[in-house]
Parts: sequence; structure tokens; C-alpha cells
Amino acid sequence: MTPLKPGATLGVLGGGQLGRMWSHAAQALGYRTAVLDPDAHSPAGWVSHLHVCADYLNAEALAQMASQCQAITTEFENVPAEALRQLGLTLPCAPSAEPVSVAQDRAREKAHFVECGVPVAPHQVLHSAEDLHTVPASLLPGILKTTRLGYDGKGQVRVASLADLPAAWAQLQAQGSAVCILEKRLPLAAECSVVLARGFDGQMVHLPLQVNLHRDGILAVTEVFDHALPTETEQQALQAAYEVARGLNYVGVLCVEFFLLQDGPERDALGPLVVNEIAPRPHNSGHHSIDSCDVSQFELQVRCMAGLPLVQPRLHSASVMLNLLGDLWFASGTQAVEPPWAQVLALPGVHLHLYGKTEARRGRKMGHLTITAAHANEACELALQAAALLGIAAW
Ligand code: ATP
Ligand code: MG
Repeated sequence: MTPLKPGATLGVLGGGQLGRMWSHAAQALGYRTAVLDPDAHSPAGWVSHLHVCADYLNAEALAQMASQCQAITTEFENVPAEALRQLGLTLPCAPSAEPVSVAQDRAREKAHFVECGVPVAPHQVLHSAEDLHTVPASLLPGILKTTRLGYDGKGQVRVASLADLPAAWAQLQAQGSAVCILEKRLPLAAECSVVLARGFDGQMVHLPLQVNLHRDGILAVTEVFDHALPTETEQQALQAAYEVARGLNYVGVLCVEFFLLQDGPERDALGPLVVNEIAPRPHNSGHHSIDSCDVSQFELQVRCMAGLPLVQPRLHSASVMLNLLGDLWFASGTQAVEPPWAQVLALPGVHLHLYGKTEARRGRKMGHLTITAAHANEACELALQAAALLGIAAW
């Protein structure tokens, strides 16, 4: 692909915070940006040259994106793959419809991992209530997950024993799920993720490995520094992530999330790793790269879709990223109160990113904070201070 010239318009499906940060990166490289999102107040719509405010499958809207843009990406996992397929008929799409449709379906996603020969949690796909009788006891205790439209731990029910499975199934069916997947609950020592970028020519680069802490199924803290994990673990994760991307013939930024299993009874002893899931886009765990790396995950996405060279990002600072959920606005009661940003910004190495969402709600991602420092322990210490000021529990 000949690189797109500055002044060209790059389009994104979805107008959330990922689209907003992507738009910032695209504009820094001289591109115009267009967003397709049905929400008139979308975070990315605010900062883009063009906001097509319509449903993702609206024929006129897709025609407008196709005529205005020279390349397309997506920032929201559940944008109908069909929209990408239609745009892909006339424009380069990074990613294209096919890998996005795989990522949108946990059953297809797991099947892809198995095909790639990367380790996954023991699981079984359940199509109907009859299938519940075929579940082996060895899959319990487990987690029942809808195969479609889950995010931030939504669409998941913990199941202690076989006897509890019918109730969990009924609960997800009542929420509108059809096919579900039962996954064995594994003893986790830690979680990590790899954000990689793959160009139209198949070249791949990656961000440094991220170590992630989830709370209530939502990413809370990401730590990134050299040697955060044993070299062997890091190599295994990178190799598996590259395998998964290659197998999908993926183009664009891809995040691969991993579970690091406990090794024996010791909680922190690292055992083998399994792939959890993929996100066909920049990922929350890669947000640190804006402030800690010389090329961010958003710039990588722009470079991929514009046919620009990919270079291996270098980590110039140790970093800790804290997600800022809407809960922080309600620390002192039911009335939303703005958190004490000025106090947090008085700490050295603090980078505040707010997404411009007008209403704070519990569990809603309102922004993030990246703390950078020369050394890991300094970044962690400052992050703990920032967390204490904001009412985020220590980790
Ligand atoms: P997101 O897309 O926002 O990352 P999600 O809703 O797709 O989240 P998962 O990644 O499947 O959900 O699960 C969320 C978290 O729940 C995981 O990061 C992990 O902490 C825990 N979890 C999920 N599956 C398992 C499992 N099989 N064993 C142990 N813990 C699990
Ligand atoms: Mg996840």
C-alpha cells in the first residue's frame, strides 16, 4: 500500500475514548479524522473533523464514510462486522471484517486459539439447555459467559458446581444471550496483555508487556516496566500473540490478553500461561503507551491503516496506569463531585486523560491516569499516592 498523504481523511467506527485518542494521534500526523457513531455527544465525535451521527449499518452513513475517507478502522469491538465488510469493498480496513467477527464471538475466538496451538482454559460451548447435561464436572467451578456482546465482565456468571449451572444458564438467557461458553475457573497468579500491530505487509511490532489487575471484571491497574515478568513468560506471551495475529491474517492493532496461572499452592508463584481473549483494536491496557513509549498504540493504529512504516516502540519510562471509573465521582455521597485533579497533578510524572464524558456513572470509564518515572518502584510509589488522593484502593 502506498502511504496515505497528510491531509487524507481516516475514518473510525465507534466514537468512544479509544476513537478519541486514536483521532488525536491521527491528527498529530497531519490526517483529518471522521467518526461514525450514533451518539451525538461521543468522546471521539467532539475532536474529529467529521462526525457522522447515525447507526453503524445505516446505508447513507456508510456511503458518506466511504466517500469521505481513504482508510477505515474500528475502536469498538461490537461494531457490526457487516459495516466493516461493506466499507472494505472500496477502502483499506485495518482491521478487516473477518478477524473482527472472530473476536466478537467467544466460541470462534477460542476455536481460533486452539487452531493456532496456543493454550486456552478448558471450556465447552453450550448451544441449548440440553447441552447442560453433557458438561463434565471437571469444568467446575467455572464461569459461564455469553459468546457475544460481553465486556468489562458483563454477560458472565460464576458457577460453583454442576447443580448451579441451570440457574446461571437461565440468568444469561433472560438477559438475551443465546449461545454461551462455560470456562473452567483457573487459579490466577497474574494477568498480562500484549498489544501488537501488524501491517498490510505482515510486519509486526509490539508494545512492552503489560501486567494487568482487574477488579470486578474491569481493568483497574496496568504496570509496565522492564523485567516485570520472567523473560521466558514474556517470550511465550509474545510468541502466542504473534501466532494468533498471523493466523487471522490480521492488519492493525490487536490486543491479546493472558492469564498467568498459579504454580502450585503459592499464590504468587508463576505457572504456565493461557490466552484469555483478543480485542481487535487498541486496548485499555495499552493506554500507558501515550506517555511511556516513543510510539503509542494509537499511532501504531494510524501507521497501520495509512500504510506507514511500523517501528518497534521503545519504553522510555516505567509506568503505572490507573483507570478512572465513574465511582470516583461518588466517593462522598450520591451527588457527583469532581475528583481532586489539581492535587493529583501536583505529583511529578502524572499524566491525566479525561474522555469528555458528560455524565459520571459507576463502572463507567471516565478517564485514566498514567504515572511515569525513571524506575519502576518510583512509578509504583507515586501511583499509590495518586490512588490514595482519588480514593482508589491500593493494590
Ligand atoms: P473485557 O473485554 O473488558 O476484557 P470481558 O467482559 O471480555 O472483559 P473476560 O476478559 O472474559 O471478560 O473476564 C474478565 C476478568 O474476569 C478476567 O480479566 C479475569 O480476571 C476474570 N476471569 C475471566 N475468566 C476467567 C477464568 N476462566 N478463570 C479465572 N478468572 C477469569
Ligand atoms: Mg477481558
